Amino acid sequence: MKLRLLAAVLMLGFVESSWAQSSENRRQDIEIATDAGSSANSFTVLGATPRQEELVRAQIQVMQPDVYPQRIIFVRHWKYVETARIFQLHVPAGYTSAMFSHLASRTVFIDADRYVSDDSLGYWLAHELGHLAAHSASESEADKAARGLRARLKNERKTSAN
Ligand SMILES: [Zn+2]
Repeated sequence: MKLRLLAAVLMLGFVESSWAQSSENRRQDIEIATDAGSSANSFTVLGATPRQEELVRAQIQVMQPDVYPQRIIFVRHWKYVETARIFQLHVPAGYTSAMFSHLASRTVFIDADRYVSDDSLGYWLAHELGHLAAHSASESEADKAARGLRARLKNERKTSAN
């Protein structure tokens, strides 16, 4: 039941938030996403602009998490709120409010209207990957698992700034 529900949500979010906007780009992105066979990059990114997708993939490549997401979905704010409600997830205000994860399907939802910068995207993405790695909904477990990932992001920034 949950899976069917998820599929419906995915279809909805996909059709409403991105397909209508740039069907050509989306189609190409999907082909690229499904062609990428390596385990590190075999997750799907939906609803993102080409730049957002590039950024997310680059950040995850740097973080090298133990557990990779299966898909990362950028959704408009209203859809994000709606999806959280459907999954009966509590999204703490001002905390992980720009993204949340559905553990069973290893899906990370990102509020495309709310994340503020590339750095904050990486910072909170690390938190969500922490949830996946710990396979836990606990915020402290996620933050603990995110520490190493954030350190890798930070190192990468230092290196590329030189
Ligand atoms: Zn969290």
